[in-house]
Amino acid sequence: MIDTYWYIFFWICIIGLCFGSFFNVVILRSLSNESIVFPPSKCPKCGNKLKWWHNIPVLSYILLKGKCGFCKEKISIQYPIVEIVTMILFGASYLRYGLNLDTIFLLFWCSCLVIMTSTDIKEKLVDCNIAIAMGITGIIFNTLHAGWYGFITSFIGILIGVIVLEAIARLGYIFAGTRAMGEADTYVAGALGGLFGLSIHMVLLLSLAASMIFILPVFFYNQFKANNKLVCILGVLFALSVVVFETVWQNYLTLAIMLIIGLWLAFSVLRGIKNAENRNYLPYVPALAAGALYITFFT
Ligand SMILES: [Zn+2]
Repeated sequence: MIDTYWYIFFWICIIGLCFGSFFNVVILRSLSNESIVFPPSKCPKCGNKLKWWHNIPVLSYILLKGKCGFCKEKISIQYPIVEIVTMILFGASYLRYGLNLDTIFLLFWCSCLVIMTSTDIKEKLVDCNIAIAMGITGIIFNTLHAGWYGFITSFIGILIGVIVLEAIARLGYIFAGTRAMGEADTYVAGALGGLFGLSIHMVLLLSLAASMIFILPVFFYNQFKANNKLVCILGVLFALSVVVFETVWQNYLTLAIMLIIGLWLAFSVLRGIKNAENRNYLPYVPALAAGALYITFFT
């Protein structure tokens, strides 16, 4: 006999896969402003309507070897990735919090984060209505749990999220003459403030760390390609000085060396931003989502 617990887990994963499949449609249509339900799914290249067995999450992608069943146009890897990520988040929510009203809220927020992260990575576009829906449900959730205290901390969380992100975004005017981040990041940080209340500062700190892990390698790769030797060399020296300071030799001399190289690096990077011709916003919603999910599942 199958254990009921794992039986439910199995079906929640399947439901996650199906929702992920639906989110792919939401992501695609929200970027092209089409209706979510009509018209039925079709290949964007040849326009053929998909057969039912072209729509099975992940499995269709594998069976079709990542190509359209009619014209052999490559299908974006986004489809199976969104499906699998949604499945993992749904399954993890159940394993961590069981099956109750709180978990339903959590599944909704995970879904919002999956959609906003995907559109941010893909087109640097985020539907702010989704963030607003997250913020409002966050206020409701905290009020249900902690009454007035929950209600008020939700609002303080929203304020902290919005103010911190706006402050960082507007620092861009000083260094580069433009916003450092898009407006959507402010909405998402505010929404997360509504969910996490006073703990929003942890989400913001973790998002900063996450952004470094994702953004720095890409940044230095671009610098390397642009033949910006000074920034690359300083980057390596800074990393070395941090390692030396943290592991081998912790004193005022190594600290001073680390700070000098770090400041020099920051200065070169900022000068580079000011001179760059086509500046790009960094997608920051993925970093915020990573911070929020880390706190939800690992603390
Ligand atoms: Zn096709």
